[in-house]
Amino acid sequence: MALPLFADCRRALFERQTSCTEVAQLALDVIRAKNPALNAFTYVDAASVHRSAEAIDDALAQGSELPLAGLVLGVKNVLSTLDWPVTCASRILQGYCPPFEATSVKRLRAAGALLIGRTNCDEFAMGSTTESSAEGPTLNPWNGEYVPGGSSGGSAAAVAAGMCHAALGTDTGGSVRQPAAFCGILGLKPTYGLVSRYGLIAYASSFDCVGPLARNAEVASLILSQMAGTDSNDATCVDHAVDHKRGLEEGSIFGLRIGLPREYYDQGLNSEVRQIIERTAKNLESMGAKLVPMSMPHTAYGVAAYYILAAAEASSNLSRYDGVKYGLRLEGKGTSIDSMYTRTRSRGFGFEVKRRIMLGTYVLSAGYYDAYYGKGQRVRSLIRQDFDEAWERVDILLTPVTPSAGARIGEWGQDPLQMYLSDVYTVTANLAGVPGLSVPVGKTSEELPVGVQLLGPPFSEHKLLGIGKAMMESIGNTYQVQ
Ligand code: GLN
Repeated sequence: MALPLFADCRRALFERQTSCTEVAQLALDVIRAKNPALNAFTYVDAASVHRSAEAIDDALAQGSELPLAGLVLGVKNVLSTLDWPVTCASRILQGYCPPFEATSVKRLRAAGALLIGRTNCDEFAMGSTTESSAEGPTLNPWNGEYVPGGSSGGSAAAVAAGMCHAALGTDTGGSVRQPAAFCGILGLKPTYGLVSRYGLIAYASSFDCVGPLARNAEVASLILSQMAGTDSNDATCVDHAVDHKRGLEEGSIFGLRIGLPREYYDQGLNSEVRQIIERTAKNLESMGAKLVPMSMPHTAYGVAAYYILAAAEASSNLSRYDGVKYGLRLEGKGTSIDSMYTRTRSRGFGFEVKRRIMLGTYVLSAGYYDAYYGKGQRVRSLIRQDFDEAWERVDILLTPVTPSAGARIGEWGQDPLQMYLSDVYTVTANLAGVPGLSVPVGKTSEELPVGVQLLGPPFSEHKLLGIGKAMMESIGNTYQVQ
């Protein structure tokens, strides 16, 4: 049981064989059947979904050309939406209803997308498994003993299980690309600044990006072109028009120079994953691409720099949750405001978030600032330089998304360092601000999906999507969890 593809729903809608209200009901039925086992959605308000669907039907009846009408969209629980609470999967934001809507969400809604519900994630998007959610873990729809990845694991599981056509995720160090790979779908992290962060509840502001997860490149591309573009509410958002159609046509593989940076194929890479990636590279070569072995010498320092810088930014961003302004407030012993702060933050934040606040506060403290934060910034510049130099020689880079094809539920909980190290191939794109696309290209012997990562120069996302589309067509990838 799954929602038909977006293209089919849209065709039926415009041939008047169905209505948005009917599509909405179908999606709600699939969610009702599948969600109890997966916990991909943590909030679905059927009444508000029906109201929105009727509004879209009315607009269509009046002749509006809504480019996303027929699209059923999940929204990660870190993006502000009017009507629904947003909690970042944290106790500390319990009951918080934002008074405004994220620009990304608002633009998609205006284009006719039907918002179906909130998808689960790691608390404040900190994690790689969706296990640190205050609302319980999400399971991988391919195999319930495995995590769906994270932090946008609810979004990935919902799309892979056919509960919605696409979902929004956020990617600070890999959180769109990695769960997309673990769940066998596409996940795009756009160039930093292409999509407004307004209304995205911040984890690490100089890294955070909003990106789509979808089953095919056309849908991801359509969503991106509707979300992208300058926003007076986000000063880091650039004015860069995205041409949906032209971009996808840029995916010609013939003559493409594809860099294979050796640091992304080190001994930590699982052998089955390696085989699948190498097969993909060979396949691209047979389609006319030129494979270019190369080096990105500072890659190994990416994880360390990322976890210092992202934790530093997080410790500052999360200082606003003090029990005064939003969500949870727990009175402390006695009447002092300090005891209220302490009790609220002690009980409101989960373990992983506290660990990062402490780490971030430490690396920013007066005596250590230069040794850690300052050095992290310098490493960030070197990693960006690696990418700048790469684009002089190649058009895109082809790498694994993660060193392994997944993790069992609980496997990384005991060993956070192992979890952090699994971000080694994704964090570099966030450090450099470049776009990255995760494309499903195979499965392991245990039937777990494997993705490859395409990285390109700033604003090359449509080229990446075009190439991803061609790659999926060439292997006949029609993954769908039944
Ligand atoms: N796994 C990474 C982290 O825990 C990335 C998270 C993200 O991209 N939001 O920080």
